[in-house]
Amino acid sequence: MDKFGFTLSKARVIDLDSNDRSIAEYILRNEPSFSLCIECGCCASTCTAGTYTPFSLRELQILLKRGENEKVRTNIGKCMLCGKCSLVCPRGVNTRNIIELAKKAFKNQETHAI
Ligand code: SF4
Ligand code: SF4
Repeated sequence: MDKFGFTLSKARVIDLDSNDRSIAEYILRNEPSFSLCIECGCCASTCTAGTYTPFSLRELQILLKRGENEKVRTNIGKCMLCGKCSLVCPRGVNTRNIIELAKKAFKNQETHAI
């Protein structure tokens, strides 16, 4: 394909059965408001960390629910726990607790505690 100056993208499939949804399930067990997110993006647009980095809490939650955890694992430390996201969330999602629980779940996973 290269001789035409373009390539085909790999097929994009979200394989919920094979992906690791244990982090999202752990969060949901401990913070039920995780299920209320409508992916509006208000949290991401007001995010302090998102002002200076590509960090997006909206994207983070979507990836966790899909069980696509690696990008979340890499980026979650950028959150400063300032709480602005929880002030603007129209659904009352306890965003800071979700971030804290995700960090805890990743740590537990490393030590095989979940
Ligand atoms: S608590 Fe974290 S995710 Fe929420 S606005 Fe602050 S830096 Fe962004
Ligand atoms: S502001 Fe609330 S409802 Fe909107 S994407 Fe963020 S967590 Fe979800």
